[in-house]
Amino acid sequence: MANNCLFCKIADGSIKSDIVYSNDHVVAFRDINPQAPVHVLVIPRRHLENATAVLPEDDAMVAELLRAAAEVARQEGIAGSGYRLVINNGPDAEQSVPHLHVHVLGGRPMSWPPG
Ligand code: 5GP
Ligand code: ZN
Repeated sequence: MANNCLFCKIADGSIKSDIVYSNDHVVAFRDINPQAPVHVLVIPRRHLENATAVLPEDDAMVAELLRAAAEVARQEGIAGSGYRLVINNGPDAEQSVPHLHVHVLGGRPMSWPPG
């Protein structure tokens, strides 16, 4: 685990969260401050700061993140109505937690472009 990383602690269970999906490599839990009726975060168990830190040896994990996000969308009943996957990277994107995470947002219509 990275020093004092909030999402590493959520992944190892030392900080409680509302987990909706997990396997050996990824964990999905409800966002504490939801921006849509469905707002779930999918993270790798292994600490990576963001998408910029992804290396070729992480390819399988990245694929699992996407597959887990789609599974969460199915479980939450938004796969048919549609949903948005968001990864904020760095300051301009307002990334606030430096552990790679995919936002799964849905349950309402969304506009484009994002803010
Ligand atoms: P970012 O802004 O880095 O893309 O997204 C971080 C997300 O983590 C935010 O949507 C924020 O609401 C969520 N978050 C921050 N702290 C916690 C927490 O302790 N528990 C949960 N479940 N979500 C959190
Ligand atoms: Zn971490």
